Amino acid sequence: MTFDTVGCSCQKRDHRQIDMEIRSVKGMNDIFEPQIHIWRHIEDQVRKHFESFCYTEIKTPVVESTTLFSRGVGDSTDIVQKEMYTFEDRNGEKLSLRPEGTAPVVRALLEHQLLNQDPIQRLYYWGPMFRYERPQKGRYRQFHQYGVEYFGSEDAWVGAEVIAMVVKLFEKLKLKGLAVRLGSVGCDQCRPSYKTILSESLKSLHAQLCSDCQNRTQKNPLRVFDCKNESCKKLVGQLPRILDHLCQVCGDHFAKLQGALGEFGVSYRVDSGLVRGLDYYMRTVFEVTSQDLGAQDAVGGGGRYDKLSEDLGGKPVPAVGFAGGIERLAMLLESRQTEFQPKLPLYVVMPDDQGVGTCARLVSELRLLGIRADIDYSGRSMKSQMKRADRSGADYVLILGGQEISKKMAVLRNMKTKAQEEIPLETLVDDLKRRLQ
Ligand SMILES: [Zn+2]
Ligand SMILES: [Zn+2]
Repeated sequence: MTFDTVGCSCQKRDHRQIDMEIRSVKGMNDIFEPQIHIWRHIEDQVRKHFESFCYTEIKTPVVESTTLFSRGVGDSTDIVQKEMYTFEDRNGEKLSLRPEGTAPVVRALLEHQLLNQDPIQRLYYWGPMFRYERPQKGRYRQFHQYGVEYFGSEDAWVGAEVIAMVVKLFEKLKLKGLAVRLGSVGCDQCRPSYKTILSESLKSLHAQLCSDCQNRTQKNPLRVFDCKNESCKKLVGQLPRILDHLCQVCGDHFAKLQGALGEFGVSYRVDSGLVRGLDYYMRTVFEVTSQDLGAQDAVGGGGRYDKLSEDLGGKPVPAVGFAGGIERLAMLLESRQTEFQPKLPLYVVMPDDQGVGTCARLVSELRLLGIRADIDYSGRSMKSQMKRADRSGADYVLILGGQEISKKMAVLRNMKTKAQEEIPLETLVDDLKRRLQ
């Protein structure tokens, strides 16, 4: 057995050591207090916001057939080639932990023929995703994403509404220095000829490209724009851009999108190098960045993917969507942590065990009314109970023991003003309800 003592300064033996074999998996985290309060705040805001735009939630399984992602995300993507958790189940079926949320949602849309019920479907999701990447700050192997998918319209207004909705969400969450990067990746009409032009100019740079990009030159040259390799990044500046090679329809669509964004009051910057790492995008692509994350990292992004449904064997379904990472948002909200902590209106302190029945009934009654109240039954000293009450940040402390019972009074201490008063036991519940609710 191997033990690990790194990361814990606790001197107690049972706290210090944990069997390595049962430690959490690398890149996968426990999320608990105080972080969990930030997560809850984000989740509440996201849900409320999307639901006000008439999106409803969809929950898809965490495990899907591997084929869904190789067809839906793209065989040539890094995600499918290098990053998926893929395994065979006991029946020999090839399965994968979902690396992203869109392909499963489209699968569900087709499987349940949702568009037959309503030709417009607006769905949002929230949950864990899995990619085998090198863990680093803000990037984990189990990470969490939320996103929206709008099915049933190819109108540029829909894409603009999605982008505007996302920007407003980030404004509500008080993110600073927001910027929208906007691009188009063309369509089946104009992208193939652009790819040929791009491949041609990549040929002359072949020797200077990283080995990944050398392979991409043939299969999917657009992906060169996504390469994280420094030397490739420098070369990208000299390449022809797809925005100069859009067909009439794509050009008009892009212009209409920009006009609609203006109507929504969203400012944006057209970025001809924005292609995004997934195969299924067509026409609109976008990313939202925050100055707090640095230039490289987007808070979220998305685009239009009218062909994905056909890639999965369905009929054509125009669609546009967005996905964002929850860990990144949580990181950006970390400095405001205390804002999101739940308030504690009451802490009950018992100097002895003579009032324990009364206290237990009282606390239970308040809790059932939705009033948060804390109590410690373990018979610790008055001093240590007061210490814990103080640390808990409670608004009031109620003191109730044998002495108080004999006087038919309880002592209520306001923890901010330190003022104390006596309240008759007879009216105690009503009095506390009035004060605390
Ligand atoms: Zn086109
Ligand atoms: Zn490269």
